Amino acid sequence: MTTNSEWLQRYSDSVLGVFGTPPIVLDHGDGCYVWDVDGRRYLDLVGGIAVNALGHGHPALVAAVSKQVAEAVHISNLFTSPGQIRLAERLLEVAGAPDGSRVFFGNSGAEAMEAAIKLARRTCRTGIVAAEHAFHGRTTGALALTHKAAYREPFEPLLPGVVHVPYDDVEALREAVDETTSAVVLEPVQGEAGVIAPSIDFLQQAREITTAAGALLIIDEIQTGIGRTGRWFGFQHAGIVPDAITIAKGLGGGVPIGAMITFGPEVSRLLTAGQHGTTFGGNPLAAAAGLAVLDTIEQDGLLAHAQRMGRHLAETVDAAHIPHVTGVRGQGLLRAIVFDAPISAGVAVAARNAGVIINPVAPEAIRLAPPLVIQAEQLDDFVAALPDFVKEATSA
Ligand SMILES: *Cc1c(COP(=O)(O)O)cnc(C)c1O
Repeated sequence: MTTNSEWLQRYSDSVLGVFGTPPIVLDHGDGCYVWDVDGRRYLDLVGGIAVNALGHGHPALVAAVSKQVAEAVHISNLFTSPGQIRLAERLLEVAGAPDGSRVFFGNSGAEAMEAAIKLARRTCRTGIVAAEHAFHGRTTGALALTHKAAYREPFEPLLPGVVHVPYDDVEALREAVDETTSAVVLEPVQGEAGVIAPSIDFLQQAREITTAAGALLIIDEIQTGIGRTGRWFGFQHAGIVPDAITIAKGLGGGVPIGAMITFGPEVSRLLTAGQHGTTFGGNPLAAAAGLAVLDTIEQDGLLAHAQRMGRHLAETVDAAHIPHVTGVRGQGLLRAIVFDAPISAGVAVAARNAGVIINPVAPEAIRLAPPLVIQAEQLDDFVAALPDFVKEATSA
Protein backbone atom coordinates (compact mmCIF):
# COMPACT_ATOMS: atom_id res chain seq x y z
CA MET A 1 0.00 0.00 0.00
CA THR A 2 1.23 3.48 -0.84
CA THR A 3 1.86 5.47 2.35
CA ASN A 4 1.14 9.08 3.15
CA SER A 5 4.77 10.10 2.67
CA GLU A 6 5.10 8.22 -0.63
CA TRP A 7 2.02 9.97 -1.95
CA LEU A 8 3.41 13.34 -0.87
CA GLN A 9 6.64 12.73 -2.77
CA ARG A 10 4.60 11.97 -5.88
CA TYR A 11 2.50 15.08 -5.20
CA SER A 12 5.49 17.38 -5.13
CA ASP A 13 6.83 15.75 -8.29
CA SER A 14 3.59 16.23 -10.22
CA VAL A 15 1.34 18.98 -8.82
CA LEU A 16 2.22 22.66 -9.31
CA GLY A 17 3.65 24.00 -6.08
CA VAL A 18 1.26 26.91 -5.46
CA PHE A 19 -0.09 25.25 -2.32
CA GLY A 20 3.30 24.10 -1.05
CA THR A 21 3.18 20.43 -0.15
CA PRO A 22 0.13 19.60 2.00
CA PRO A 23 0.82 17.62 5.19
CA ILE A 24 -1.61 14.75 4.72
CA VAL A 25 -3.24 12.76 1.94
CA LEU A 26 -6.92 12.27 2.66
CA ASP A 27 -8.75 9.27 1.48
CA HIS A 28 -12.37 9.54 2.59
CA GLY A 29 -14.66 11.13 5.12
CA ASP A 30 -17.80 10.43 7.09
CA GLY A 31 -19.79 13.16 8.82
CA CYS A 32 -17.30 15.44 10.61
CA TYR A 33 -14.37 13.01 10.32
CA VAL A 34 -11.86 12.38 7.55
CA TRP A 35 -9.27 9.59 7.20
CA ASP A 36 -5.80 9.73 5.68
CA VAL A 37 -4.26 7.01 3.50
CA ASP A 38 -2.51 5.52 6.54
CA GLY A 39 -5.92 5.01 8.17
CA ARG A 40 -5.64 7.81 10.75
CA ARG A 41 -8.87 9.58 11.66
CA TYR A 42 -9.17 13.38 12.04
CA LEU A 43 -11.97 15.52 13.43
CA ASP A 44 -12.56 18.00 10.61
CA LEU A 45 -13.21 21.46 12.07
CA VAL A 46 -12.39 23.26 8.82
CA GLY A 47 -14.87 21.53 6.51
CA GLY A 48 -12.85 22.05 3.34
CA ILE A 49 -12.66 25.77 4.27
CA ALA A 50 -16.37 26.38 4.87
CA VAL A 51 -17.36 24.14 1.96
CA ASN A 52 -18.54 20.82 3.39
CA ALA A 53 -21.71 22.30 4.88
CA LEU A 54 -23.26 18.85 5.38
CA GLY A 55 -20.01 17.16 6.34
CA HIS A 56 -18.68 14.19 4.39
CA GLY A 57 -20.87 11.56 2.77
CA HIS A 58 -24.19 13.08 3.86
CA PRO A 59 -26.93 10.71 2.64
CA ALA A 60 -29.02 13.52 1.11
CA LEU A 61 -26.09 14.83 -0.93
CA VAL A 62 -24.93 11.35 -1.92
CA ALA A 63 -28.43 10.40 -3.08
CA ALA A 64 -29.04 13.62 -5.02
CA VAL A 65 -25.68 13.63 -6.77
CA SER A 66 -25.74 9.87 -7.50
CA LYS A 67 -29.19 10.13 -9.06
CA GLN A 68 -28.23 13.17 -11.09
CA VAL A 69 -24.96 11.77 -12.34
CA ALA A 70 -26.84 8.85 -13.89
CA GLU A 71 -29.41 11.15 -15.52
CA ALA A 72 -27.35 14.08 -16.89
CA VAL A 73 -24.14 15.65 -15.60
CA HIS A 74 -23.78 18.46 -18.10
CA ILE A 75 -25.85 19.95 -20.90
CA SER A 76 -24.13 23.36 -21.54
CA ASN A 77 -25.80 26.74 -21.24
CA LEU A 78 -27.28 26.36 -24.72
CA PHE A 79 -29.94 24.55 -22.70
CA THR A 80 -31.29 24.64 -19.18
CA SER A 81 -32.55 22.01 -16.76
CA PRO A 82 -35.30 21.76 -14.14
CA GLY A 83 -32.65 21.53 -11.41
CA GLN A 84 -30.95 24.75 -12.49
CA ILE A 85 -34.25 26.62 -12.52
CA ARG A 86 -35.31 25.18 -9.17
CA LEU A 87 -31.98 26.12 -7.58
CA ALA A 88 -32.22 29.68 -8.91
CA GLU A 89 -35.73 29.99 -7.47
CA ARG A 90 -34.66 28.57 -4.11
CA LEU A 91 -31.65 30.91 -3.89
CA LEU A 92 -33.84 33.95 -4.58
CA GLU A 93 -36.19 32.72 -1.87
CA VAL A 94 -33.58 32.17 0.85
CA ALA A 95 -31.85 35.45 -0.05
CA GLY A 96 -35.17 37.27 0.42
CA ALA A 97 -34.54 38.86 -2.97
CA PRO A 98 -37.28 41.18 -4.29
CA ASP A 99 -39.24 40.60 -7.52
CA GLY A 100 -37.11 41.03 -10.59
CA SER A 101 -33.99 39.53 -8.93
CA ARG A 102 -31.94 36.98 -10.86
CA VAL A 103 -29.20 34.37 -10.43
CA PHE A 104 -26.08 33.77 -12.52
CA PHE A 105 -24.32 30.42 -12.02
CA GLY A 106 -20.57 29.85 -12.23
CA ASN A 107 -18.21 27.30 -10.72
CA SER A 108 -16.23 29.00 -7.97
CA GLY A 109 -16.01 32.00 -5.74
CA ALA A 110 -13.56 33.86 -7.93
CA GLU A 111 -15.78 33.28 -10.93
CA ALA A 112 -18.75 34.71 -9.04
CA MET A 113 -16.60 37.77 -8.25
CA GLU A 114 -15.67 38.18 -11.92
CA ALA A 115 -19.38 38.28 -12.74
CA ALA A 116 -19.87 40.91 -10.03
CA ILE A 117 -17.00 43.02 -11.38
CA LYS A 118 -18.48 42.92 -14.86
CA LEU A 119 -21.86 43.81 -13.38
CA ALA A 120 -20.27 46.84 -11.73
CA ARG A 121 -18.64 47.87 -15.02
CA ARG A 122 -22.08 48.02 -16.61
CA THR A 123 -22.90 51.03 -14.41
CA CYS A 124 -20.51 52.88 -16.78
CA ARG A 125 -18.34 53.83 -13.81
CA THR A 126 -14.97 52.20 -13.16
CA GLY A 127 -14.08 52.82 -9.51
CA ILE A 128 -14.39 49.99 -7.00
CA VAL A 129 -13.98 50.41 -3.26
CA ALA A 130 -12.98 47.31 -1.30
CA ALA A 131 -11.69 46.81 2.23
CA GLU A 132 -8.23 46.40 3.62
CA HIS A 133 -7.47 42.75 4.40
CA ALA A 134 -10.32 41.69 2.11
CA PHE A 135 -10.11 38.39 0.27
CA HIS A 136 -12.15 38.05 -2.92
CA GLY A 137 -10.26 35.41 -4.86
CA ARG A 138 -7.23 34.79 -7.08
CA THR A 139 -8.35 35.36 -10.68
CA THR A 140 -6.99 38.61 -12.03
CA GLY A 141 -10.20 40.59 -11.60
CA ALA A 142 -10.98 39.28 -8.14
CA LEU A 143 -7.31 39.60 -7.23
CA ALA A 144 -7.46 43.35 -7.77
CA LEU A 145 -10.05 43.49 -4.96
CA THR A 146 -8.06 41.18 -2.68
CA HIS A 147 -5.91 43.28 -0.40
CA LYS A 148 -2.88 41.17 0.51
CA ALA A 149 0.15 42.58 -1.30
CA ALA A 150 1.91 39.19 -1.53
CA TYR A 151 -1.02 37.84 -3.55
CA ARG A 152 -1.42 40.93 -5.75
CA GLU A 153 1.95 42.48 -6.44
CA PRO A 154 3.58 39.70 -8.53
CA PHE A 155 0.72 40.12 -11.02
CA GLU A 156 0.41 43.87 -11.32
CA PRO A 157 -0.75 45.82 -13.20
CA LEU A 158 -4.20 44.54 -12.33
CA LEU A 159 -7.65 46.00 -12.93
CA PRO A 160 -7.33 49.77 -12.37
CA GLY A 161 -9.62 51.90 -10.25
CA VAL A 162 -9.65 49.79 -7.09
CA VAL A 163 -9.04 51.41 -3.71
CA HIS A 164 -8.94 49.72 -0.32
CA VAL A 165 -10.23 51.44 2.80
CA PRO A 166 -10.06 50.22 6.41
CA TYR A 167 -12.77 47.65 7.15
CA ASP A 168 -15.51 48.68 9.55
CA ASP A 169 -14.62 52.37 9.15
CA VAL A 170 -17.71 54.24 8.03
CA GLU A 171 -15.97 57.61 7.62
CA ALA A 172 -13.20 56.14 5.44
CA LEU A 173 -15.82 54.48 3.30
CA ARG A 174 -17.86 57.67 2.98
CA GLU A 175 -14.74 59.55 1.91
CA ALA A 176 -13.74 56.97 -0.71
CA VAL A 177 -17.11 56.68 -2.44
CA ASP A 178 -18.03 59.27 -5.05
CA GLU A 179 -19.71 59.61 -8.46
CA THR A 180 -16.93 57.56 -10.09
CA THR A 181 -17.58 54.57 -7.81
CA SER A 182 -19.27 51.67 -9.57
CA ALA A 183 -19.42 49.47 -6.51
CA VAL A 184 -18.42 48.94 -2.92
CA VAL A 185 -17.48 45.30 -2.34
CA LEU A 186 -17.49 43.95 1.21
CA GLU A 187 -17.46 40.67 3.11
CA PRO A 188 -20.04 40.63 5.94
CA VAL A 189 -17.36 38.92 8.06
CA GLN A 190 -13.79 38.97 6.78
CA GLY A 191 -12.89 35.28 6.67
CA GLU A 192 -9.33 35.07 5.38
CA ALA A 193 -8.37 38.18 7.36
CA GLY A 194 -8.92 36.12 10.52
CA VAL A 195 -12.71 36.06 10.99
CA ILE A 196 -13.32 39.75 11.65
CA ALA A 197 -16.95 40.78 12.16
CA PRO A 198 -17.70 44.51 11.75
CA SER A 199 -19.87 46.65 14.01
CA ILE A 200 -23.54 45.94 13.71
CA ASP A 201 -24.31 49.08 11.68
CA PHE A 202 -21.35 48.98 9.25
CA LEU A 203 -23.23 47.27 6.42
CA GLN A 204 -26.24 49.52 7.05
CA GLN A 205 -24.03 52.59 6.71
CA ALA A 206 -22.41 51.08 3.60
CA ARG A 207 -25.89 50.66 2.16
CA GLU A 208 -26.74 54.31 2.80
CA ILE A 209 -23.44 55.57 1.42
CA THR A 210 -23.67 53.55 -1.80
CA THR A 211 -27.31 54.42 -2.38
CA ALA A 212 -26.57 58.12 -1.95
CA ALA A 213 -23.66 57.91 -4.44
CA GLY A 214 -25.52 55.78 -6.96
CA ALA A 215 -23.00 52.98 -6.53
CA LEU A 216 -23.73 49.27 -6.17
CA LEU A 217 -23.29 47.49 -2.86
CA ILE A 218 -21.90 44.03 -3.60
CA ILE A 219 -21.61 41.63 -0.68
CA ASP A 220 -19.15 38.75 -0.95
CA GLU A 221 -20.99 35.87 0.75
CA ILE A 222 -18.66 33.22 -0.64
CA GLN A 223 -17.50 32.19 2.84
CA THR A 224 -20.34 33.57 4.99
CA GLY A 225 -23.25 32.36 2.87
CA ILE A 226 -25.40 29.21 2.97
CA GLY A 227 -25.94 29.18 6.71
CA ARG A 228 -22.34 29.57 7.83
CA THR A 229 -23.08 32.50 10.17
CA GLY A 230 -26.39 31.10 11.43
CA ARG A 231 -28.50 32.85 8.81
CA TRP A 232 -28.70 32.02 5.13
CA PHE A 233 -26.46 34.99 4.38
CA GLY A 234 -24.29 37.27 6.48
CA PHE A 235 -25.91 40.46 5.16
CA GLN A 236 -29.23 39.33 6.64
CA HIS A 237 -27.91 40.04 10.16
CA ALA A 238 -27.81 43.72 9.15
CA GLY A 239 -31.28 43.74 7.59
CA ILE A 240 -30.11 45.42 4.40
CA VAL A 241 -30.90 44.75 0.74
CA PRO A 242 -27.66 44.62 -1.26
CA ASP A 243 -27.48 45.09 -5.04
CA ALA A 244 -25.68 41.80 -5.58
CA ILE A 245 -24.15 38.98 -3.60
CA THR A 246 -21.63 36.35 -4.57
CA ILE A 247 -21.90 32.77 -3.30
CA ALA A 248 -19.81 29.64 -3.65
CA LYS A 249 -18.10 27.59 -0.92
CA GLY A 250 -20.97 26.00 1.03
CA LEU A 251 -23.53 25.93 -1.76
CA GLY A 252 -22.62 22.62 -3.37
CA GLY A 253 -21.55 20.90 -0.17
CA GLY A 254 -18.23 20.17 -1.92
CA VAL A 255 -19.40 19.98 -5.52
CA PRO A 256 -17.94 23.07 -7.26
CA ILE A 257 -20.53 25.77 -7.86
CA GLY A 258 -20.62 29.55 -7.61
CA ALA A 259 -23.37 32.07 -8.10
CA MET A 260 -24.16 35.76 -8.20
CA ILE A 261 -27.57 37.04 -7.20
CA THR A 262 -28.62 40.43 -8.56
CA PHE A 263 -31.26 42.15 -6.46
CA GLY A 264 -34.23 43.82 -8.15
CA PRO A 265 -35.03 44.47 -11.81
CA GLU A 266 -32.72 47.41 -12.43
CA VAL A 267 -29.49 45.71 -11.36
CA SER A 268 -30.65 42.45 -12.95
CA ARG A 269 -30.85 44.18 -16.33
CA LEU A 270 -27.25 45.45 -16.27
CA LEU A 271 -25.77 42.32 -17.85
CA THR A 272 -27.60 41.40 -21.06
CA ALA A 273 -27.57 38.42 -23.42
CA GLY A 274 -24.07 37.73 -24.68
CA GLN A 275 -22.25 39.91 -22.15
CA HIS A 276 -21.17 37.09 -19.86
CA GLY A 277 -21.04 33.32 -19.84
CA THR A 278 -19.46 30.08 -18.68
CA THR A 279 -19.41 26.50 -19.94
CA PHE A 280 -20.03 24.56 -16.76
CA GLY A 281 -21.95 27.09 -14.65
CA GLY A 282 -25.15 25.74 -13.10
CA ASN A 283 -24.91 22.33 -14.72
CA PRO A 284 -27.39 19.65 -13.60
CA LEU A 285 -24.89 17.93 -11.27
CA ALA A 286 -23.93 21.12 -9.42
CA ALA A 287 -27.57 22.22 -9.28
CA ALA A 288 -28.63 18.89 -7.76
CA ALA A 289 -25.94 19.28 -5.12
CA GLY A 290 -27.01 22.86 -4.35
CA LEU A 291 -30.65 21.87 -3.99
CA ALA A 292 -29.76 18.99 -1.68
CA VAL A 293 -27.70 21.33 0.50
CA LEU A 294 -30.43 24.00 0.73
CA ASP A 295 -33.16 21.42 1.41
CA THR A 296 -31.13 19.68 4.11
CA ILE A 297 -30.22 22.94 5.86
CA GLU A 298 -33.89 23.85 5.92
CA GLN A 299 -35.32 20.43 6.87
CA ASP A 300 -32.75 19.77 9.58
CA GLY A 301 -32.91 23.26 11.08
CA LEU A 302 -29.19 23.81 10.52
CA LEU A 303 -29.35 27.62 10.66
CA ALA A 304 -30.48 27.54 14.28
CA HIS A 305 -28.10 24.64 14.92
CA ALA A 306 -25.15 26.66 13.55
CA GLN A 307 -26.05 29.53 15.88
CA ARG A 308 -26.34 27.20 18.86
CA MET A 309 -23.10 25.35 18.11
CA GLY A 310 -21.21 28.60 17.51
CA ARG A 311 -22.39 29.98 20.84
CA HIS A 312 -21.61 26.69 22.55
CA LEU A 313 -18.06 26.74 21.19
CA ALA A 314 -17.47 30.33 22.31
CA GLU A 315 -18.88 29.68 25.78
CA THR A 316 -16.95 26.45 26.24
CA VAL A 317 -13.66 28.04 25.22
CA ASP A 318 -14.29 31.04 27.50
CA ALA A 319 -15.19 28.80 30.44
CA ALA A 320 -12.03 26.71 29.97
CA HIS A 321 -9.70 29.68 30.73
CA ILE A 322 -6.96 28.27 28.52
CA PRO A 323 -3.54 29.93 28.83
CA HIS A 324 -2.70 32.16 25.84
CA VAL A 325 -6.32 32.09 24.59
CA THR A 326 -7.76 35.61 24.67
CA GLY A 327 -11.17 34.94 23.15
CA VAL A 328 -13.40 33.64 20.38
CA ARG A 329 -14.69 35.87 17.60
CA GLY A 330 -16.97 35.43 14.62
CA GLN A 331 -20.56 34.43 14.02
CA GLY A 332 -22.40 31.11 13.88
CA LEU A 333 -19.96 28.41 12.79
CA LEU A 334 -17.43 30.80 11.28
CA ARG A 335 -15.15 31.34 14.25
CA ALA A 336 -11.62 32.23 15.24
CA ILE A 337 -9.94 31.38 18.51
CA VAL A 338 -7.51 34.16 19.29
CA PHE A 339 -4.16 33.86 21.07
CA ASP A 340 -1.95 36.43 22.78
CA ALA A 341 1.06 35.32 20.69
CA PRO A 342 1.75 34.14 17.12
CA ILE A 343 1.35 30.45 17.92
CA SER A 344 -1.47 29.41 15.59
CA ALA A 345 0.70 27.42 13.18
CA GLY A 346 2.16 25.43 16.07
CA VAL A 347 -1.27 24.87 17.58
CA ALA A 348 -2.55 23.58 14.23
CA VAL A 349 0.38 21.14 13.89
CA ALA A 350 -0.14 19.85 17.44
CA ALA A 351 -3.85 19.45 16.74
CA ARG A 352 -3.21 17.59 13.50
CA ASN A 353 -0.77 15.24 15.21
CA ALA A 354 -3.54 14.51 17.69
CA GLY A 355 -6.15 13.99 14.96
CA VAL A 356 -7.91 17.37 14.75
CA ILE A 357 -7.96 19.65 11.70
CA ILE A 358 -8.01 23.40 12.38
CA ASN A 359 -6.82 26.30 10.24
CA PRO A 360 -4.11 28.78 11.32
CA VAL A 361 -5.74 31.64 9.40
CA ALA A 362 -3.57 34.33 11.02
CA PRO A 363 -0.44 34.13 13.19
CA GLU A 364 -2.51 34.75 16.32
CA ALA A 365 -5.77 33.07 15.34
CA ILE A 366 -7.04 29.69 14.25
CA ARG A 367 -10.17 29.48 12.15
CA LEU A 368 -12.93 26.94 12.65
CA ALA A 369 -15.54 26.45 9.93
CA PRO A 370 -16.79 22.94 10.67
CA PRO A 371 -19.65 21.22 8.87
CA LEU A 372 -22.97 22.75 9.94
CA VAL A 373 -23.93 19.29 11.24
CA ILE A 374 -21.20 19.35 13.91
CA GLN A 375 -22.31 18.16 17.36
CA ALA A 376 -21.58 19.74 20.74
CA GLU A 377 -19.65 16.64 21.90
CA GLN A 378 -17.29 16.95 18.96
CA LEU A 379 -16.62 20.61 19.75
CA ASP A 380 -16.16 19.65 23.40
CA ASP A 381 -13.56 17.02 22.45
CA PHE A 382 -11.60 19.73 20.68
CA VAL A 383 -11.86 22.30 23.48
CA ALA A 384 -10.81 19.67 26.04
CA ALA A 385 -7.66 18.99 24.02
CA LEU A 386 -6.90 22.62 23.13
CA PRO A 387 -4.78 23.33 26.26
CA ASP A 388 -2.44 20.51 25.23
CA PHE A 389 -2.14 21.88 21.69
CA VAL A 390 -1.34 25.33 23.08
CA LYS A 391 1.17 23.89 25.53
CA GLU A 392 2.91 22.01 22.75
CA ALA A 393 3.01 25.10 20.54
CA THR A 394 4.41 27.34 23.27
CA SER A 395 6.98 24.90 24.68
CA ALA A 396 8.54 24.20 21.28
C1 LIG B 1 -12.85 31.54 -0.84
C2 LIG B 1 -13.28 32.93 -1.08
C3 LIG B 1 -13.24 33.51 -2.35
C4 LIG B 1 -12.68 32.77 -3.55
O1 LIG B 1 -13.38 31.61 -3.86
P1 LIG B 1 -12.68 30.50 -4.78
O2 LIG B 1 -13.75 29.45 -4.94
O3 LIG B 1 -11.49 30.00 -4.06
O4 LIG B 1 -12.33 31.15 -6.05
C5 LIG B 1 -13.70 34.79 -2.50
N1 LIG B 1 -14.18 35.49 -1.45
C6 LIG B 1 -14.24 34.97 -0.21
C7 LIG B 1 -14.80 35.79 0.91
C8 LIG B 1 -13.77 33.69 0.02
O5 LIG B 1 -13.80 33.18 1.26
